[in-house]
Amino acid sequence: MLSKRAASLKPSPTLAISAKEKALKAQGIDIAGFGAGEPDFDTPEHIKKAAIDAINGGFTKYTPAAGMEQLKDAVIEKFKRDNGLEYKRDEIIISCGGKHSLFNLFQSLFGEGDEVLIPAPYWVSYPPMVELAGATPVIMDTSEKEDYQITEAMLRKYITLRTKAIILNYPSNPVGSVYYRESLELIGKYAAEHNFFIVSDEIYEKLVYDDYKHVSIASMDKAFRDRTIVCHGVSKTYAMTGWRIGFAAGPKDIIQAMSNIQSQSTSNPTSISQMASIAALNGPQDCIADMLVEFKKRKDFLVEGFRSIDGVTCYDPRGAFYVFPNFSAFMKKRYKGRPVKTSAGLTEILLEEFHTAVVPGIEFGKEGYLRLSFATSMEIIQKGLDRIKKAAAEMK
Ligand SMILES: *Cc1c(COP(=O)(O)O)cnc(C)c1O
Repeated sequence: MLSKRAASLKPSPTLAISAKEKALKAQGIDIAGFGAGEPDFDTPEHIKKAAIDAINGGFTKYTPAAGMEQLKDAVIEKFKRDNGLEYKRDEIIISCGGKHSLFNLFQSLFGEGDEVLIPAPYWVSYPPMVELAGATPVIMDTSEKEDYQITEAMLRKYITLRTKAIILNYPSNPVGSVYYRESLELIGKYAAEHNFFIVSDEIYEKLVYDDYKHVSIASMDKAFRDRTIVCHGVSKTYAMTGWRIGFAAGPKDIIQAMSNIQSQSTSNPTSISQMASIAALNGPQDCIADMLVEFKKRKDFLVEGFRSIDGVTCYDPRGAFYVFPNFSAFMKKRYKGRPVKTSAGLTEILLEEFHTAVVPGIEFGKEGYLRLSFATSMEIIQKGLDRIKKAAAEMK
């Protein structure tokens, strides 16, 4: 009955784990949940007020399908201010979330026979979204040992005549890793030489730690800019996941194709949310700094905690709000005779026996690791880490 396309599609595993977590909580079980992929802070007041004003002022009708000009201008300002990038209105699209921009982009650019390079660990939605467009994801495994960089050897190995694009996400979900300037230069150089596009998902640009300064690959060279589509949004920066506003900047003809798809599917993103996003981008930015102080405390606590567990290593994230500890040494162990075997096996033991919800690394293309979001209270983080330490100590 279902189309081949729909039948082969799995629901997002991170959303599925959040659902399982909520179901157990509803049964009265005290779960320490690390599944959430969204800030636990409330949307700042001045942003909410802009939305309320929009409702009261009757700004409740259709806008242009690809977004209001005023919001496009705020996005243009953002790219100029933060990245030194100059765009025109016809090089910008506003979508119903960053995910929607990516979806429209993949539908516009990818098709049968195309290969799309995706460095692992990757955001869970990239491979299925590439497949939905009919193209083939080509996974390039990066390693903790190499600081999760893309190397020249990898590019040489995976680029073919069919390579249509590479998807970069920095700071990354699930690791919080970033690319060195030299790595970005290398990727840009290969993209220009082999004529493929760069999808640059920079949604965590503003959530960075310890003076790390984000540099967009599009800003490094005109040749890179001309083949890069920067995908971004307000969800993570301003704690606005539910508002559903994302945006993308890139070559005019690609943005036009994305707008056409959008105009035949969702039409415009919510008018009220667009007004709120104008306030977010043009308004005071200190709300981000406040959120970062709290995120950094939690990050440091978790990294130190995981590093104190015998046999576990943990990358110290430069950005985003996840840690990705390496539990490979536990794959051969058992808990009360029950073999761990895989990251999914470990996740099940942690949830069922220790009431702690984490996401298995395999969902991000990396076996042996776990992903924990620290977009949750310090109290839950302390409780959850204690439980994981106890579990680790009881695994033989
Ligand atoms: C959260 C996220 C997005 C998009 O989120 P939206 O809420 O759709 O804007 C895109 N990429 C990555 C890597 C993310 O973690």
